[in-house]
Amino acid sequence: MESIELLCQIVIDTLKEFSMEKRSLTATALNEAFSAKKEISSLLSHGLSNPSSVRTKEFSNPQRQLKRVQLKVVEASTPSRIEPLAKLQSAFLKILHSFGPIIKGDYEKQFCQLKKKISDCESLESLGIVGDEMDSMVSSLINDTVAGIAFSNDFLVELSKDLYKMEEQLFSCQNHNRETYLLTNEFHDDLLVHTGDMGHALDIGNNLEDVRHLITSKLSVIVKAVEVKQQEDEVRLQEADRKISELQNNVKTYNQEILQVRERADTLEKEMLLDELTQISNRRAYDLGVSDTLRRYHRDGVPFSLIIIDIDHFKKINDSYGHSAGDKCLREIAKLIKDALRKTDFFARYGGEEFIVILNGSNAQEARNVADKIRSRIEKTCFSYHEEIIPLTISLGVTEVMPSDTDADVPFIRADEALYQAKKDGRNRVCVITDLPFCKI
Ligand code: GH3
Ligand code: MG
Ligand code: MG
Repeated sequence: MESIELLCQIVIDTLKEFSMEKRSLTATALNEAFSAKKEISSLLSHGLSNPSSVRTKEFSNPQRQLKRVQLKVVEASTPSRIEPLAKLQSAFLKILHSFGPIIKGDYEKQFCQLKKKISDCESLESLGIVGDEMDSMVSSLINDTVAGIAFSNDFLVELSKDLYKMEEQLFSCQNHNRETYLLTNEFHDDLLVHTGDMGHALDIGNNLEDVRHLITSKLSVIVKAVEVKQQEDEVRLQEADRKISELQNNVKTYNQEILQVRERADTLEKEMLLDELTQISNRRAYDLGVSDTLRRYHRDGVPFSLIIIDIDHFKKINDSYGHSAGDKCLREIAKLIKDALRKTDFFARYGGEEFIVILNGSNAQEARNVADKIRSRIEKTCFSYHEEIIPLTISLGVTEVMPSDTDADVPFIRADEALYQAKKDGRNRVCVITDLPFCKI
């Protein structure tokens, strides 16, 4: 190979090395690179007519200096101006072509123009001028390429951050209970290690290809880990489904039990308020009922009346016909009274042979009429026990609620007074007291 071609080849190789290693293309760096090449020293010492000029201080700009060297070498060593021009043109074109793979975008046009200019050069001087242009284009091309690498690194840093975010979201989504949390923690650690490796690779500034390779391999590890995690989650989900279904069955059983307990409670409550013998409300139910009725009266002004009913000489009935006969009479009387009342009225066995009625919405006069109707029915009813006729009558005390009745005992006492009066007046009668002195029927 001729000296000039060898020199061009060395220059091309050196520039390629700069590009491959992404080294900054500075004068000092290039100077050092050329100084390290033994071939250059040898070329300069042998084949060049004026080697001393080559090694002068003009090496401050190696690329520019290179052109000068080439021109001076050619001019000094060849008699013809045409041959070195053609060789230099060829060398320049070779240098230009060596940048082919990285020439893109705006540089393509410049590249074509330069190629044409080099080919069109007719003198070494004009080739020198074109060489300056080539120098400028190559410099900016290398700078842009280095900037591109930096950009790629930035992009990879961002990508790494996204991976961290994605991993964090995955972690937070799966942190729905303690068990999953613990299991996910291991998964999280794994991801952290892999993503950490990527971040570290970026931090220490590995070259683009290495970083790409690392990220690709780490991503495949992460994808595999996610797949395994999904399978584990699926197993846990199935287990959770089984537990939920078990819980649902338990809840169903509990609900049934609660329903039974509630029904039992209802029954007990009814029993608490029911008189066992007559199966009508008892005194406890009356106490609750009359309090509610009195509250409604004071709130809404709806009147009500009370009737206390007492069987006349009932002790004698028991004594004459037996206690069972007395019980039978109590049940029959309760039924007769109940049948004589409206559904809106309240009826209870107050105790022993005494009953009480709350007539909702009725005044004393209406209550008296009802009371007398009841009295009359009992009087006319033929009670019997073991074919024995049992004569029965009742006495009734009636009263109407009054605005001054702030306690339910007060109207009760008035009705009881009326009953006492009915007894006193001869029994089998109704006595009404709306205020003292009482009024008799
Ligand atoms: P008066 O006309 O003054 O009311 O006389 P009386 O005998 O009805 O009144 P007294 O209070 O003296 O007697 C009430 C009787 O009622 C006494 C009791 O044996 C009877 N008695 C109370 N509860 C029951 C019961 O559940 N069954 C039966 N068979 N008798 C009862
Ligand atoms: Mg009595
Ligand atoms: Mg009695």
